[in-house]
Amino acid sequence: MREHTTLYIDGAWSEPVDGTVLELTHPADGRPSGSVTLGGAADVDRAVTAAARAFRTYSRTTPQERIALLERVLTEFDRRAEDLALAVTEEMGAPLTLASGAHVPGGRFQIATAIEVLKEFAFTGLHGDSVIRHEPLGVAGLITPWNFPVLQVAGKTASALAAGCTVVVKPAEIAPHSAAIIAEIMEAAEVPPGVFNLVHGSGAVAGNALSSHPGVGVVSFTGSLATARRVTTAAAGTMKRVHTELGGKSAHLLLPDADFATAVDSVHQWMMSMTGQLCSAPSRTLVPRARVDEFLAALVPSLEALNIGDPRLPETGMGPLASHAQWETVQRYIKLGLESGARLVTGGPGRPEGLEHGHFARPTVFADVDNGMTIAREEIFGPVMSVIAYDTVEEAVAIANDSDYGLAAYVVGADIDRAREVAERLDVGYVLINDAEFDWTAPWGGYKQSGNGREFGPAGVSGYLETKVVRGG
Ligand code: NAD
Repeated sequence: MREHTTLYIDGAWSEPVDGTVLELTHPADGRPSGSVTLGGAADVDRAVTAAARAFRTYSRTTPQERIALLERVLTEFDRRAEDLALAVTEEMGAPLTLASGAHVPGGRFQIATAIEVLKEFAFTGLHGDSVIRHEPLGVAGLITPWNFPVLQVAGKTASALAAGCTVVVKPAEIAPHSAAIIAEIMEAAEVPPGVFNLVHGSGAVAGNALSSHPGVGVVSFTGSLATARRVTTAAAGTMKRVHTELGGKSAHLLLPDADFATAVDSVHQWMMSMTGQLCSAPSRTLVPRARVDEFLAALVPSLEALNIGDPRLPETGMGPLASHAQWETVQRYIKLGLESGARLVTGGPGRPEGLEHGHFARPTVFADVDNGMTIAREEIFGPVMSVIAYDTVEEAVAIANDSDYGLAAYVVGADIDRAREVAERLDVGYVLINDAEFDWTAPWGGYKQSGNGREFGPAGVSGYLETKVVRGG
């Protein structure tokens, strides 16, 4: 059992002023796994006050000093890598192999990248005879989701600290374990008091207090569109900078000459390994009408053979959903898909056979989906795919772009020039062609209602900087 009764504020662990207790359960069996005492507005205020005080000196550190600090953080992070992986599995149900093979290395990579960016970053430059300075925006409020908790908390923190901001992190309330370990890492790395603060809390109370706080200069929010609207509205009173990194309904566009083995691999990597709980999950697969049956024949047996089960076991290929609430959401969308007349090809409602407890869902494929159906328009955040047939590539591009979201897209095709030309026409922030390797240093973020921010690499650090011009003298 993991009990989180304290918050990390101003370099020390202290009990919340307001102490509501949230009981936690393990996603794999629904059994109690611990609890977290949630901080309130007064705790956020304490953290922001500490961060603002620390900002006065931390913002004036040199890039070399911040490199040294982040190198200490990286050393401590490596010492706790195994603990972090176990924490992720316990809080959100990712298979341990994925937690230790992707979640934790993803967070580590962001810290290492921030160090590399700092070695090169031009904080001062010239525009004609004007001096251009890039200065930290102040206290950064970091509000994170539960689906990629280490990457989110470590990544945002590393970029903000590299820029010279001090931070207050408000992690997702159902994923406090890994965030608490990251605070312990900061403490062990002797990050000065107030530079990094952690406030566990609910979104409606602590998240709202952080978004609206006048002492916060920038909010970096990753989460759902509905919450982003609340965060942006709460932040508007102070006109602080708000970066939003939101959901998606990403198209997986299989061109007429696509190799389906590549497409099937992408479904497993980007959709099923995370139980569909990835912002960039390819949840709409666009297939040439004449090849739909061939695609389903290539895909379905591999989904039916997926080893779904306890995420702590090494052989598990797909774990449970993170929470009962998420399980209910997924069930609701499967029901909606059935009611809308889409053809259920595999999966469907309920739990996979033999998994009567825990938040397990069945890998589900709907064919004959019309892009106007709710299952094709709304982010489900579960292992539910829509297969949409198209007649011409023009039509496929139009369907891909017919979405309120614009986070990512996947294009598969043998003719690379054609695939690139299609990629250029997609209204999204990131396109992977033929299952290309993901670049974790390139700018990551969405078009349209997938948000306005860019994270990772130099773009991530820039998000925490303000620009100043100095002339004369
Ligand atoms: P969520 O919006 O429910 O919660 C995200 C965070 O916001 C949590 O910390 C929550 O406590 C907080 N919050 C809730 N209400 C708030 C309020 N009124 N004010 C301030 N904060 C509030 O999202 P989630 O369910 O935790 O995460 C899933 C979502 O995140 C999906 O939509 C997914 O696509 C998105 N996501 C996007 C990216 C990306 O990089 N674009 C990455 C990961 C997840």
